[in-house]
Amino acid sequence: MTWVCPHCKRTFASEAQFHSHDVVDLEGHFAGRPPELGAAFNKLVASLPSDVRLDPLKTAIILAARTTFSFVIVRAARLSVGIFLDRPLDSPRVSKVDQISSRKIANVVEVYGPGDIDHELRSWLLEAYRLRSGPPVADSGSERSSPQAGHALVAPTADGARRARRRA
Ligand SMILES: [Zn+2]
Repeated sequence: MTWVCPHCKRTFASEAQFHSHDVVDLEGHFAGRPPELGAAFNKLVASLPSDVRLDPLKTAIILAARTTFSFVIVRAARLSVGIFLDRPLDSPRVSKVDQISSRKIANVVEVYGPGDIDHELRSWLLEAYRLRSGPPVADSGSERSSPQAGHALVAPTADGARRARRRA
C-alpha cells in the first residue's frame, strides 16, 4: 500500500508519514550554481537503481526507496550528501554524523564535482538504499511501495535561472 499526500502529491510507504509539503522544482536547486554540481548530481542519480524516487523539497532533494535513504543539499559550491545508514562511517570524507534514532544515522559527505561520485560513495549510497528498500522493519506496518517514475535528471537551463531570479 502506498499513500499519496493530497497536499504535495508525494508518494509515501504509509499514511501520515511526517514530511514537508514544500516541494519545489528540481532544476531550481541548481539554478545559478556551478555546472559541476548539476553534473555531480546527475552522476550520483545515474549510479543508483532506477526505482529511486527524487523528491525536491525547498531545502533538500530527497532520495527515497521504500523510505528516504539519502538527501542532497545544494550549497554555493558543493553538495552536502546525507546518507542514512545504521552505523557511523569512519572516513575523513564524512563531514558530519547525526544520530537520528538508534538505527538511523545520517552521514554527510561533501561533493564538489562529478569526480567525488566514486566507487566508495556509491557503495555507501547503495548500502543505504538496501536498508530502506526491503520490507518494513517492525516500526511500520505498510507494504513495499511500487517503483515510481524514473530519473528526472537535472539539465540546468536559462529557464531555471529565470525562476531562481524571480524567487530572489
Ligand atoms: Zn505533503
